Amino acid sequence: MRALVFRGPMQLAWEDVPTPEIVDPRDALVRPLAVARCDLDPAIALGLYPMPAPFVVGHEMVGEVVAVGDQAGPWRPGDRVIVPFQLSCGRCDACRRGHTNACELVAPGTAFGLGPHGDVDLGGALADLVRVPWADVMLIGLPDGLDPVVAAGIPDNVSDGYRCVAGPLAERPGAPVLVAGGLAPSVGLYAAMCAIALGSERVVYVDDDDTRLRLAEAIGAEAIDATGRWHEVDRHLGTRFPVTVDANVLDHGRDLALRAVAPCGTCTSVSGGAQRTSSLPLQQMYLKGVRYEIGRVHAMATAGPVLDLVTSRAIDPGRIITRTASFDEAVDAMVDPGPKVVFVNDRT
Ligand SMILES: [Zn+2]
Ligand SMILES: [Zn+2]
Repeated sequence: MRALVFRGPMQLAWEDVPTPEIVDPRDALVRPLAVARCDLDPAIALGLYPMPAPFVVGHEMVGEVVAVGDQAGPWRPGDRVIVPFQLSCGRCDACRRGHTNACELVAPGTAFGLGPHGDVDLGGALADLVRVPWADVMLIGLPDGLDPVVAAGIPDNVSDGYRCVAGPLAERPGAPVLVAGGLAPSVGLYAAMCAIALGSERVVYVDDDDTRLRLAEAIGAEAIDATGRWHEVDRHLGTRFPVTVDANVLDHGRDLALRAVAPCGTCTSVSGGAQRTSSLPLQQMYLKGVRYEIGRVHAMATAGPVLDLVTSRAIDPGRIITRTASFDEAVDAMVDPGPKVVFVNDRT
């Protein structure tokens, strides 16, 4: 079969690779229909986020079941499904707690489209076919009438944006939210979109990119251009925010999110920053009493509530999508500067 293989910075090409097969009774084979580009994918493709190569890319996937093992749950060929990107067994203590990014049966980080982890290489979604282990618990039915393109980001980035604000807003209903946008471009916009849907009285989106600022304004956020003034933009906002989100990734965005957070508020970072180590203003955080959340989304545990918001039309992830591209256009579209690209499988 054909798959899009990453072999190093700027070395992305469709190649012939072995076709996956059912090897366990809980397996399903899924044909990807729509694959959203994760915010991390362009950084991998460009070599800005070094990853050992080679591997098949793509991990935000909606697809069609084409074959199942005899213990793969209710799924049948022809079913359309959302596939959360991290592998989780659904049965270990971590999975049962909802910590589905930390399944105890696989190595940390085991996921589609991000290379081998331990002895598991799941392949990626930009491929003719994907084997999904533990399909009885790993698949979510795509509701009738929901466009696979719109749903394609739910397996990762839409859910990532949601979790930044859903928990803190449940504790502080209606609280103002500040999002520092940037190098996690779609996650920041999805966080703003979810905050509005979840009832925040004021959602401020700060960024230095015109396209993203316009999108933020279009979805109802207060868009603030921080070009040249990341270090002081919060002085002009008139309040501090019980909920802040760092989707900027660079230090100036994280520092803004930490300065702007209100005493006893929650700041969530959706990345570990651009360097392996980083310095935090711990004394300032201690004196103010900041709850700093950092870590990967629990994709499976979060996708369900997010899908509920989509099907009830409280959020429309499609409003952030700036380009749809065919699988054949994926090499070029992988580094498209827009915040969200979805690859559509038009191969038969
Ligand atoms: Zn991702
Ligand atoms: Zn597990």
